[in-house]
Amino acid sequence: MFILRIAPVQAIVLRAITWREKDRLLVLLTKERGKIFALAQGAQVPQNRLAPATQTGAIATFWLARAREFDRVTDCRIEQILTRIRQDILALTAFSVVAELIELAVPLEVSDEGMFSEVLWFVKRLEEGLSPTKWLVATQIRLLWRLGWMPHLLSCSLCGAEIEKEQVPFAPSAGGVICESCQVHRKPADTQFYSIAVLQAIYSLWQQPRLIETLHLRPTLWQQALTLLRNHWRYHTEAENKAWKVWQQIASIRAFPFATRKIQP
Ligand SMILES: [Zn+2]
Repeated sequence: MFILRIAPVQAIVLRAITWREKDRLLVLLTKERGKIFALAQGAQVPQNRLAPATQTGAIATFWLARAREFDRVTDCRIEQILTRIRQDILALTAFSVVAELIELAVPLEVSDEGMFSEVLWFVKRLEEGLSPTKWLVATQIRLLWRLGWMPHLLSCSLCGAEIEKEQVPFAPSAGGVICESCQVHRKPADTQFYSIAVLQAIYSLWQQPRLIETLHLRPTLWQQALTLLRNHWRYHTEAENKAWKVWQQIASIRAFPFATRKIQP
């Protein structure tokens, strides 16, 4: 006998992919089941009742029927549609970077309510108008911590000694920063130097994500923080984040809006 089992999930749409001609395949982060895929049949048709809730950045309850390949969306109720990511390309790219990291690193069908509530909290701060750069730094360090990939930021990852120098060597393969005396014996190939202010800022945001509203740092130091996090993610996921490339292009255009640029093919 065929039993159709339908259950609701509270979700953020990380990505909506055009599927066949009229459908959308959704990558969802849910409260109940962690990261899952779900198929919304007919959602590509603008008049379809599932269309509004099945866009990237929608926060909604979805009723899902278990099916062989992907669960099927049978109904939905929108809680919020993120509008900023539709108007601000930098905010959209920041959202995409994080969505891609979750898609890469979070296992399928592993319920993690803490992760869901935190991502929801962050997504709402972005919607409220927070700087996408600061937002990216804070969101990423919290995700790294939740996935068990938290780097050592203020103490040596090899011996535990406190770091006091102004320029600090950091190597993802060593697990974070390396002190002077450990450096004599070990210098991993992926070592890069960062200002101590960068490490302190990332650490503070990990400890208290609410500081994103008030924490100030020179723009170049925020860029250093992003580089450090990007390298650390790349080491753990062993993959290049596609949205990062877009981020870099947009960020450089914004930094020099009137410069003559050669468009890279
Ligand atoms: Zn050490």
